[in-house]
Parts: sequence; C-alpha cells; structure tokens
Amino acid sequence: GSAAGPAVPRYVRLNTLKITTNEAIAYFKRQGYTYLGKARSLDEVAELGQKHGKRFLQDLHVPDLLAFPPGTDFHKDTLYTAGHLILQDKASCLPALLLSPPVGSCVIDACAAPGNKTSHLAALMKNKGRIFAFDLDTKRLATMSTLLLRAGVTCQELANQDFLTVKPDDPKYQKVSHILMDPSCSGSGMPDLMRALGDKNGPEQEKRLQSLSGFQCRALSHALSFPSVQRVVYSTCSIHQQENEDVVKTTLEQNTNFKLVNALPSWPARGLNTFLDAGCCLRASALDTFTNGFFVAVFERKSDGNESSS
Ligand code: SAM
Repeated sequence: GSAAGPAVPRYVRLNTLKITTNEAIAYFKRQGYTYLGKARSLDEVAELGQKHGKRFLQDLHVPDLLAFPPGTDFHKDTLYTAGHLILQDKASCLPALLLSPPVGSCVIDACAAPGNKTSHLAALMKNKGRIFAFDLDTKRLATMSTLLLRAGVTCQELANQDFLTVKPDDPKYQKVSHILMDPSCSGSGMPDLMRALGDKNGPEQEKRLQSLSGFQCRALSHALSFPSVQRVVYSTCSIHQQENEDVVKTTLEQNTNFKLVNALPSWPARGLNTFLDAGCCLRASALDTFTNGFFVAVFERKSDGNESSS
C-alpha cells in the first residue's frame, strides 16, 4: 500500500483473438496457480491483494479478465510475448467494454497509442469492420504498431495525425458509429506517476489542469460532431474533477443532441455529484474498486425529436 491506496491486483486481459478464457485458465493451472473461480464480489478481488501465493480469479465486471496477486510479473511469460495476454489495469478495460462496438462496425480510436484499448476493441469486433486509430506521437504509434501485430489485430488503420484535424465530413468516416476518446490527461490516477511527482497542489498545477481540460473538451466535442456517431466513450486516468466531471458537464451543455448513459450500473464508485446525471459517470480507485484511478463517461446520441428530454 501507499498514499495512493492499497496495492491493486495484477490484472491480465485475455486477448480473445488468440486464446479463450478456458484455455488460459487451464494454462495458469499448469503453471501452478490455484484457480479460485469467478469472483462474486469486489471483496473477493480485494482479498487477492492481501494474501500472497499463486492464486487467481476471473473478474466479475470485465469478461476475459483475470486477477492475480499484486506484483505478479508476466512480462517474460510466453503467452504474454506471443500476444495472448494483455497486461492492462481493470479500469482501463472499461472504455472499450462500454463502447461495445458491434462486430463489423466502423470505429474511431481518437487518441490511441500505445493501443491497449484498440486491441480490446478489435477483440470485441472479432477483427471485423474498421478501426481508424489516431495519435500525435510518432514513437508511441510505432510501439502501437508492434503491439497490434503481436496481438493479431488486422482491422486497424493507423494515422500519425492530430485528431482535431480529422474531418468529420470526409466520406471515409461517413459510417463511423462509435468513437473512443481517451485523451492525454494529468495521469493523476496512476499510482507510480503520483509517487514520482509527489503531491503538487498550487497555481502551476491548476494552470496545467485548465489547459488539459480545454483540450479534452475540444477533442470530445469534435468526436460528437461526426455525422453518424451514435456512441462516444470518454475516459481519463485522472482523479481531478477538472478533467472529468467538468469536461463532461461542459460538453453536454455544448452538445444538446447527446445524453449520458448510466455506465455499468453495478459499478459502485460514481461521478462526483457536481451536475444532474453526474452519477451516470463512473470513477475507479485503489480504495473503492481495487484498480488504478480512472474515470469513464458514455455519451449517446438522442433519438430524433427527443432533443430536450432524456
Ligand atoms: N488509448 C491509449 C491506450 O489505451 O493504450 C492511451 C492513450 S494516452 C492516455 C493519450 C494519447 O493521446 C497519447 O498517446 C498522446 O500522444 C495522444 N494525443 C494527444 N493529443 C492528441 C491529438 N490532438 N490527436 C491525437 N492524439 C493525441
């Protein structure tokens, strides 16, 4: 544990393009791990963090996600190096899961690198349809390209481009129905980063958060401007209201043709009660949900003639 909360389990997302959950469970049993079954409550997941030993669970919220004791290291595991396992925190699996693009659909991953959520989307889409993935950072995009190759993802089209310059009226994006918006953020939900930076509060931090939230609002509104988009998921690994609830509130005020969907109602930690419907958003933290700090909001286009009600 630390100031950021207790140690979180080692989560392992199974890449269903390459392996089934049953195959993976059998594999880990052969490696000497005891399988405790599918968790029935968050408490069972939390208990993994308190005891040591080679044990694992299947998660209760995210299908195809396994939880191991904190610190379990799979970086040298042959299933990891072969792209069957994705080492991804549980909270960061929620955006793709909640976007839930149908098999064969047309999707944009707006800020995509290094691509863990892209490969999750591709798995949910069974590699059918199209994912247009953008990122500004050339290096991160190169890493992403390698990771997607290893994961067997084939439905992507990567572009080293500022998402804000992607034209919503380009015929290429005419059928885009689902967009994942996971923009740059302060990273304040990541325990390692916070430990390294220390707790900085003050005018400098406030300025940085204002600048980040300005970009986040612009990027999110740009996503909502694509002509056929039905569903947009906004996520950050930040714990700050300025980058989370405040961005969602401003975006809803500026885009009255969209409403929030109640994201994963069984999830216990909700958005801070700063505006009507903020409880539709979800939050994650080491203390409440045994994950890294995280935030997710799900936007859906209102059906025609339904602009003022929700
Ligand atoms: N979604 C990624 C994943 O799950 O692996 C993580 C994305 S990270 C939080 C944010 C990314 O946004 C960074 O890689 C950054 O380079 C990229 N980015 C920042 N501004 C951007 C912009 N205007 N257009 C496209 N990408 C941008």
